[in-house]
Amino acid sequence: MNGWQCGTCGQQHRGLATVFGAQAPDVWMHASATEREAGELTGDMCVLEVGGERHYFLRGHIEIPLIDAQGEVFSWSAWVSLSQESVQKIADHWDDPARASMPPVFGWLSNELPYDRPTTSIATHVHSREPGLVPYIELDPSTDHPLVREQATGISLHRLAEINQAVMG
Ligand SMILES: [Zn+2]
Repeated sequence: MNGWQCGTCGQQHRGLATVFGAQAPDVWMHASATEREAGELTGDMCVLEVGGERHYFLRGHIEIPLIDAQGEVFSWSAWVSLSQESVQKIADHWDDPARASMPPVFGWLSNELPYDRPTTSIATHVHSREPGLVPYIELDPSTDHPLVREQATGISLHRLAEINQAVMG
Protein backbone atom coordinates (compact mmCIF):
# COMPACT_ATOMS: atom_id res chain seq x y z
CA MET A 1 0.00 0.00 0.00
CA ASN A 2 2.73 2.45 -0.97
CA GLY A 3 1.49 5.99 -1.01
CA TRP A 4 -1.79 5.06 0.68
CA GLN A 5 -3.11 8.07 2.51
CA CYS A 6 -5.68 7.94 5.27
CA GLY A 7 -8.88 9.70 4.24
CA THR A 8 -9.50 10.76 7.84
CA CYS A 9 -6.20 12.33 8.88
CA GLY A 10 -4.11 12.39 5.69
CA GLN A 11 -1.29 10.39 7.28
CA GLN A 12 0.05 7.03 6.17
CA HIS A 13 -0.70 4.30 8.66
CA ARG A 14 1.98 1.65 8.29
CA GLY A 15 3.35 -1.18 10.38
CA LEU A 16 0.33 -1.30 12.66
CA ALA A 17 -0.03 -4.24 15.05
CA THR A 18 -3.19 -6.26 14.41
CA VAL A 19 -3.25 -8.21 17.69
CA PHE A 20 -3.11 -6.87 21.22
CA GLY A 21 -3.63 -9.03 24.22
CA ALA A 22 -3.92 -9.44 27.92
CA GLN A 23 -1.67 -12.06 29.51
CA ALA A 24 -4.31 -12.98 32.06
CA PRO A 25 -7.80 -12.05 33.23
CA ASP A 26 -7.77 -8.74 35.13
CA VAL A 27 -8.72 -10.47 38.40
CA TRP A 28 -5.55 -12.57 38.10
CA MET A 29 -3.47 -9.40 37.85
CA HIS A 30 -5.12 -8.11 41.04
CA ALA A 31 -4.97 -11.43 42.93
CA SER A 32 -2.61 -12.01 45.83
CA ALA A 33 0.48 -14.20 45.46
CA THR A 34 -1.22 -16.85 47.59
CA GLU A 35 -4.33 -16.86 45.42
CA ARG A 36 -2.21 -17.17 42.28
CA GLU A 37 -0.21 -20.04 43.74
CA ALA A 38 -3.44 -21.90 44.46
CA GLY A 39 -4.71 -21.12 40.96
CA GLU A 40 -3.48 -21.92 37.49
CA LEU A 41 -2.64 -19.80 34.45
CA THR A 42 -1.64 -21.14 31.05
CA GLY A 43 -1.74 -19.41 27.67
CA ASP A 44 -5.25 -20.75 27.11
CA MET A 45 -6.99 -21.22 30.44
CA CYS A 46 -7.03 -19.83 33.94
CA VAL A 47 -8.49 -21.01 37.23
CA LEU A 48 -8.56 -18.71 40.22
CA GLU A 49 -10.25 -19.00 43.59
CA VAL A 50 -11.25 -15.67 45.09
CA GLY A 51 -13.12 -15.40 48.37
CA GLY A 52 -13.87 -19.12 48.39
CA GLU A 53 -15.33 -19.06 44.90
CA ARG A 54 -13.61 -20.72 41.97
CA HIS A 55 -13.54 -18.83 38.66
CA TYR A 56 -12.76 -20.29 35.25
CA PHE A 57 -11.43 -18.32 32.31
CA LEU A 58 -10.61 -19.01 28.70
CA ARG A 59 -8.56 -16.90 26.30
CA GLY A 60 -10.01 -16.09 22.90
CA HIS A 61 -9.90 -13.51 20.13
CA ILE A 62 -12.40 -10.69 19.69
CA GLU A 63 -11.96 -10.30 15.95
CA ILE A 64 -12.87 -6.99 14.32
CA PRO A 65 -12.92 -6.71 10.53
CA LEU A 66 -10.67 -4.04 8.98
CA ILE A 67 -12.98 -2.39 6.51
CA ASP A 68 -10.30 -0.88 4.28
CA ALA A 69 -8.09 -3.99 4.25
CA GLN A 70 -10.37 -6.64 2.85
CA GLY A 71 -10.27 -10.03 4.54
CA GLU A 72 -8.04 -8.81 7.36
CA VAL A 73 -8.99 -8.48 11.00
CA PHE A 74 -7.79 -6.80 14.14
CA SER A 75 -7.92 -9.02 17.25
CA TRP A 76 -8.14 -8.29 20.93
CA SER A 77 -6.73 -11.36 22.63
CA ALA A 78 -8.88 -11.39 25.75
CA TRP A 79 -10.17 -13.57 28.56
CA VAL A 80 -13.74 -14.54 29.27
CA SER A 81 -15.18 -16.02 32.43
CA LEU A 82 -17.11 -19.27 31.87
CA SER A 83 -19.12 -21.65 34.01
CA GLN A 84 -17.32 -24.74 35.27
CA GLU A 85 -19.56 -26.84 33.05
CA SER A 86 -18.65 -24.86 29.93
CA VAL A 87 -14.94 -24.88 30.61
CA GLN A 88 -15.05 -28.63 31.29
CA LYS A 89 -16.82 -29.23 27.99
CA ILE A 90 -14.20 -27.21 26.12
CA ALA A 91 -11.32 -28.94 27.93
CA ASP A 92 -12.80 -32.37 27.14
CA HIS A 93 -12.84 -31.54 23.43
CA TRP A 94 -9.58 -29.52 23.29
CA ASP A 95 -7.89 -31.95 20.88
CA ASP A 96 -11.07 -33.06 19.15
CA PRO A 97 -10.79 -32.36 15.38
CA ALA A 98 -14.56 -31.80 15.33
CA ARG A 99 -14.57 -29.26 18.15
CA ALA A 100 -15.39 -26.39 15.75
CA SER A 101 -18.90 -27.80 15.44
CA MET A 102 -19.54 -27.52 19.18
CA PRO A 103 -22.25 -24.99 20.07
CA PRO A 104 -20.92 -21.69 21.50
CA VAL A 105 -20.84 -21.20 25.27
CA PHE A 106 -21.73 -18.10 27.26
CA GLY A 107 -19.01 -16.02 28.91
CA TRP A 108 -18.35 -12.61 30.47
CA LEU A 109 -15.49 -10.51 29.09
CA SER A 110 -12.88 -10.29 31.86
CA ASN A 111 -10.44 -7.65 30.67
CA GLU A 112 -10.60 -3.88 30.67
CA LEU A 113 -9.76 -2.70 27.14
CA PRO A 114 -9.01 0.93 26.21
CA TYR A 115 -12.52 2.18 25.43
CA ASP A 116 -14.47 5.13 26.81
CA ARG A 117 -16.79 2.77 28.64
CA PRO A 118 -15.93 -0.31 30.75
CA THR A 119 -15.50 -3.53 28.78
CA THR A 120 -15.44 -5.95 31.70
CA SER A 121 -18.66 -7.95 31.92
CA ILE A 122 -19.77 -7.53 28.32
CA ALA A 123 -21.76 -10.66 27.49
CA THR A 124 -20.09 -12.95 24.94
CA HIS A 125 -20.58 -16.20 23.08
CA VAL A 126 -17.40 -18.23 22.80
CA HIS A 127 -17.01 -20.35 19.67
CA SER A 128 -14.49 -23.17 19.51
CA ARG A 129 -12.58 -23.37 16.24
CA GLU A 130 -10.35 -26.07 14.74
CA PRO A 131 -7.58 -27.28 17.09
CA GLY A 132 -4.67 -24.84 16.99
CA LEU A 133 -6.92 -21.79 16.62
CA VAL A 134 -7.88 -19.79 19.69
CA PRO A 135 -11.63 -19.59 20.32
CA TYR A 136 -13.58 -16.82 18.61
CA ILE A 137 -15.26 -14.40 21.00
CA GLU A 138 -18.54 -13.10 19.65
CA LEU A 139 -19.70 -10.10 21.67
CA ASP A 140 -23.41 -10.19 22.37
CA PRO A 141 -24.81 -7.97 19.60
CA SER A 142 -27.65 -6.70 21.81
CA THR A 143 -25.14 -5.01 24.15
CA ASP A 144 -24.91 -1.26 23.57
CA HIS A 145 -21.16 -0.62 23.64
CA PRO A 146 -18.61 0.92 21.23
CA LEU A 147 -16.55 -2.29 21.21
CA VAL A 148 -19.62 -4.34 20.30
CA ARG A 149 -20.44 -1.92 17.47
CA GLU A 150 -16.86 -2.16 16.19
CA GLN A 151 -17.08 -5.93 15.97
CA ALA A 152 -20.41 -5.67 14.14
CA THR A 153 -19.41 -3.02 11.61
CA GLY A 154 -15.61 -3.26 11.44
CA ILE A 155 -13.05 -0.49 11.89
CA SER A 156 -10.95 1.66 9.58
CA LEU A 157 -7.15 1.63 9.47
CA HIS A 158 -7.31 5.09 11.01
CA ARG A 159 -9.15 3.62 14.01
CA LEU A 160 -6.60 0.78 14.11
CA ALA A 161 -3.88 3.43 14.36
CA GLU A 162 -5.78 5.01 17.27
CA ILE A 163 -5.94 1.61 19.00
CA ASN A 164 -2.20 1.12 18.47
CA GLN A 165 -1.63 4.51 20.06
CA ALA A 166 -3.97 3.77 22.97
CA VAL A 167 -2.17 0.54 23.78
CA MET A 168 1.43 1.51 23.09
CA GLY A 169 1.26 5.21 23.86
ZN1 LIG B 1 -5.71 8.35 9.75
